[in-house]
Amino acid sequence: MVSNEMSKNFEIAIIGAGISGTTLAIALHHRGLNVTVYEAAHAFGEIGAGVSFSPNAVQAMKICHDGVYEAFEEVCTRNKWSSKQKVWFNYVDGYNKTKSDGSELKADEQPDIAFTIHNSLGQTAVHRARFLDEMVHLLPKGIAHFGKRLCGITEPANDEGKLVMHFTDGTSAETDAVIGCDGIKSAVRRCLFGEDSPSAWPSYTHKYAYRGLISTRDAVAAIGSEVAENSFMHMGPNGHILTFPVDKGETLNLVAFRTTSANWEDPSRLTKPAHQDDLLRDFEGWAPYIQKLLKLTKPDLDIWAIFDLGNNPVPTFCKGRVCIIGDAAHATSPHHGSGAGFCIESSAILASLLASDKVQTVSDIRAVFETFDAVRRERCQWLVQSSRFIGDCYEWRADGVGKDFEIIEREINVRYGIIANVDVEKMCREAVEDFNKRVSA
Ligand SMILES: Cc1cc2nc3c(=O)[nH]c(=O)nc-3n(C[C@H](O)[C@H](O)[C@H](O)COP(=O)(O)OP(=O)(O)OC[C@H]3O[C@@H](n4cnc5c(N)ncnc54)[C@H](O)[C@@H]3O)c2cc1C
Repeated sequence: MVSNEMSKNFEIAIIGAGISGTTLAIALHHRGLNVTVYEAAHAFGEIGAGVSFSPNAVQAMKICHDGVYEAFEEVCTRNKWSSKQKVWFNYVDGYNKTKSDGSELKADEQPDIAFTIHNSLGQTAVHRARFLDEMVHLLPKGIAHFGKRLCGITEPANDEGKLVMHFTDGTSAETDAVIGCDGIKSAVRRCLFGEDSPSAWPSYTHKYAYRGLISTRDAVAAIGSEVAENSFMHMGPNGHILTFPVDKGETLNLVAFRTTSANWEDPSRLTKPAHQDDLLRDFEGWAPYIQKLLKLTKPDLDIWAIFDLGNNPVPTFCKGRVCIIGDAAHATSPHHGSGAGFCIESSAILASLLASDKVQTVSDIRAVFETFDAVRRERCQWLVQSSRFIGDCYEWRADGVGKDFEIIEREINVRYGIIANVDVEKMCREAVEDFNKRVSA
């Protein structure tokens, strides 16, 4: 890979510096492409919560740049127990107060494990902000412009002219191509489809989540080390809770989901403050060990509304020399734990395309983006729908599945296989072959 000399005769603007924008910028910069990042916030930053990655995402990190993978290894936390190194999640009934032999579950007892989902890497969780901090070192100073919130794009008058990006601070900048990595509320998506298009806006999945961090030491004392030090999915009616270790095992990350028929009051804000009492009320009647765990969260919490792009999937990921990737293109509910992983897959594939030999000038970019759309849209939009379904399986509300653990296990294994058991290098190669065919035709 080249790092200093610019290898192509065009400039690329990335809008947004979350996981998509940062991994893409690193992948492009280290392939010698001329790239500039415009980020609305005043610095690189992520909301401090845990995110875990499956094997496909880890392959994609290595393709973007070895440094991305090294950053991940630096901050990654795995299950503590050696017997659980290949465990993605242990699934348990977190609601009923009986064990599988029918005896009563005591307050300090965990339920029997219903089934376990394995993968080649086990559970690999990172603290978002720390992961991003490590990755930022791979970018030269000055590549990113902060405080730049994109609000419009003017198309050029001719095929090779510059696109003009407009920002809310009244400034503008020119570029040859725009890649929207600006997340679920993407302004680039609105530029592509128009403010009035249903595809421009995400919709509420009628699930919300409390996110909490608990000291592992306190969790071990309250509910024992197996659940406190390893990844568990606690299932129940119309709710589920996932817990996994972060911060090198010092902290247990807890995400507690509820399904509701009520609407989310203010779609312009995806979070709202909550109190531990709300959380306890929402999980009243669940097993005693869950009550103990929830009481260890801080008194002040946030509720996150789970929105996605599942109701009105975008008809394309690109138009001309404007493209969207990551949550901007396929924001998903988090029930497969793969939204960010798919962002990194997309960065790897788009970078491989843009850096490929036959892509040389501005006039090649349109076909690159069309190829990206052709190879990525089906897989990414499948994830959005599958994630909705699997979230309902965890909550015993999926049609034809209910509380049948055998079916739930089978559904997870099939779907998780589609996500994780892929060869991302092959995906990149096939994308480049597709592009080459497209341009030679
Ligand atoms: C509760 C929850 C748990 C999750 N857990 C997992 C998990 O375990 N594993 C997993 O793989 N995924 C998980 N996900 C999904 C994952 O978080 C997202 O898919 C991923 O973070 C999206 O990254 P992104 O870079 O595309 O968007 P974002 O992270 O939203 O980044 C967008 C960036 O663009 C900037 N921006 C926005 N608008 C503009 C603008 N107009 N101009 C300039 N900049 C702008 C923002 O400031 C931000 O920096 C989870 C999601 C949720 C909600």
